[in-house]
Amino acid sequence: MVQDRCLNFQGLVDMREPLSLAGQKYGKLTIIGRIKKHHLRTRWECLCDCGNIKIIDQSSIRNGHTKSCGCLKKERLKGNTNNKVHGMKGTIIYQTWRAMKQRCTNKGHVNYHNYGGRGISICDRWLESFESFYEDMGERPTGKTLDRIDSNGNYCKENCKWSTKKEQCINRRNPWITRRANNGTR
Ligand SMILES: [Zn+2]
Repeated sequence: MVQDRCLNFQGLVDMREPLSLAGQKYGKLTIIGRIKKHHLRTRWECLCDCGNIKIIDQSSIRNGHTKSCGCLKKERLKGNTNNKVHGMKGTIIYQTWRAMKQRCTNKGHVNYHNYGGRGISICDRWLESFESFYEDMGERPTGKTLDRIDSNGNYCKENCKWSTKKEQCINRRNPWITRRANNGTR
């Protein structure tokens, strides 16, 4: 009798979850089969579109909490960054950032010898992320280009400003005087 009740109880649980999820698709997950109950939780073996197999709680699948083996979340995070940067790719500010990187890191760049070749580097924050560069420098004002305050210094927030070509020429013409003057005041 007790045995029967137990079976009934099991039966009731199954009645509350009458649909076999096997074969169904939730997000990127295809449900393969039910896993033996564990602490009364119903779990399913799921095949993700990416090829991973994962065991996931039925509740997580059915409430939509879990839609992949975990790769979807990773993809989305990556996608967000990419999309944001991708949206900026045609902009002047993005080109400015890219050109700066080229000058300092690409040995094949026509001006490398004036920058990277001379030991001019870019701070890690800017080197690694366009967004950080954008955050620090903002949009490029019309008619101005990225300029280093100390023309022998590196590309970083502290040493960069937007200057007109004319301002840059003055700075370039007397780089050593500027430098010596700076050193003198220190
Ligand atoms: Zn996956």
